[in-house]
Amino acid sequence: MHANVVFVSKTMFAVDHAATALLLKRRYPAVPIAPLLLAVQVMELAWVALNYLGVEHTTTEPVVRSVADIHLAWMPYSHSVITALGAAVIAWAVIELGMGRRALGRAVALGIASHLVLDLLTHAHDIVLWPGRVSPRLGLGLYDAAPAAAFVVEMAYGVVCWWIYRGGRGLLALIVLGNLANLSLLSPSIPGPEAFLAGRPVLVVSLVALQIVVTLVLTGVLARSRGPTSPVMVPSVRRA
Ligand SMILES: [Zn+2]
Repeated sequence: MHANVVFVSKTMFAVDHAATALLLKRRYPAVPIAPLLLAVQVMELAWVALNYLGVEHTTTEPVVRSVADIHLAWMPYSHSVITALGAAVIAWAVIELGMGRRALGRAVALGIASHLVLDLLTHAHDIVLWPGRVSPRLGLGLYDAAPAAAFVVEMAYGVVCWWIYRGGRGLLALIVLGNLANLSLLSPSIPGPEAFLAGRPVLVVSLVALQIVVTLVLTGVLARSRGPTSPVMVPSVRRA
């Protein structure tokens, strides 16, 4: 029934989701960055798992020249408003109310919710309110309307996260390169490795999974060194 509902979608770049963890780390300095990195990508990791399990589906056109030829055809569980907000509330309740870790609970809940907000801004109309509900499909469709502008907005978002965090040069390089790596995906006229993805949805999912893991690990590692102006580098300023 749902198989003929195919629509174009563009997911936000993995490195920019990861950059949100920097904002949370800045706001909640005592919280370790690892749970924050997991929280901002838990929706995408659920999407990967559900695709491998065959519960959610990804399809491609016979020829893939850009991200427009890849369709996130069915993902009502990993990417619905209620799934994301529900997961955020449950995580908050378990961590803050259950375990008494107030800052961790709030930071993780915000991280999970941040993924939904960023996807709503960038995705085509493919985010349902809850699993089983077919319409409305939410998403501002920034990539459909203006792919070049969307690219600039994403790059700017990642850099602003880095700037607020006061990260080091390595982290900035990761964010810039992580965005540039997706450039060929945005335009049919820029050839890239996406041509090999035609008819290989499992490969699409695996590449997304790889990108998620690599960007999360590198963000976590590179976030350890900060810029010279950071007050958080001074141990006496660090809050408990
Ligand atoms: Zn997503």
